[in-house]
Amino acid sequence: MVDNPEITRSALRMARERGADVAGALPAATLLDCPSAVAEGWRGARDERGTYIVLGLYHDPDKPELDLWEPGRGTPGDRILAGIGRDLVHWLRENHDISARLIPYQIEDGGIYLKDAACLAGIGRMGRNNLVLLPRYGPRVRFRAVWADLDCPEPDRPEREDPCRDCPGYCIAACPMDAYASGRYDRERCMARMNADKASGGKRIDHCRACELACRE
Ligand code: SF4
Ligand code: SF4
Repeated sequence: MVDNPEITRSALRMARERGADVAGALPAATLLDCPSAVAEGWRGARDERGTYIVLGLYHDPDKPELDLWEPGRGTPGDRILAGIGRDLVHWLRENHDISARLIPYQIEDGGIYLKDAACLAGIGRMGRNNLVLLPRYGPRVRFRAVWADLDCPEPDRPEREDPCRDCPGYCIAACPMDAYASGRYDRERCMARMNADKASGGKRIDHCRACELACRE
């Protein structure tokens, strides 16, 4: 494993130059027992060594097309992130002879808990709406990750005030599925809405973003 913090810094810089709005890194092993893994009973990461480089793309509410989901193709926003990730993988392999790979989006396909990864990389903090809240972008950022055979220094995690602390809960009031009725995000209720969207047979699906778009962060 290569211990070279400068390569990690260059990779993060390059990700931003290629179009990522945010990027951060964390030791892969940090995710093994991340909060989502503990809550859902999955192993949080396939990799016990190396570094996850987390890439984030702002999804401007004025560009809803970034989020339109198509069967077998995902969303245009995710394809942009995957393209940036593939560029990074190529650069790490060709320029530094470092083994790297793009991480699949879905956890079932070998993915990682991307929101946990973003928080543990110091990019943002989890909001009451179960989305990562970021300075400047609020919860309107999608993530993807690359694994690299690099040693990762512990990330800088700036202390941030809890943005939800004094908020009346616009996200909760906006949910059409009452997915926060128990006081916590209920994945099954939320997924029921997503699955109904998918079952509608539309070629491009405009998934619910009510809890995200209602947030004033
Ligand atoms: S709407 Fe309020 S409670 Fe919900 S995530 Fe945003 S800041 Fe937090
Ligand atoms: S995405 Fe829609 S259904 Fe799911 S929790 Fe948010 S508002 Fe509720």
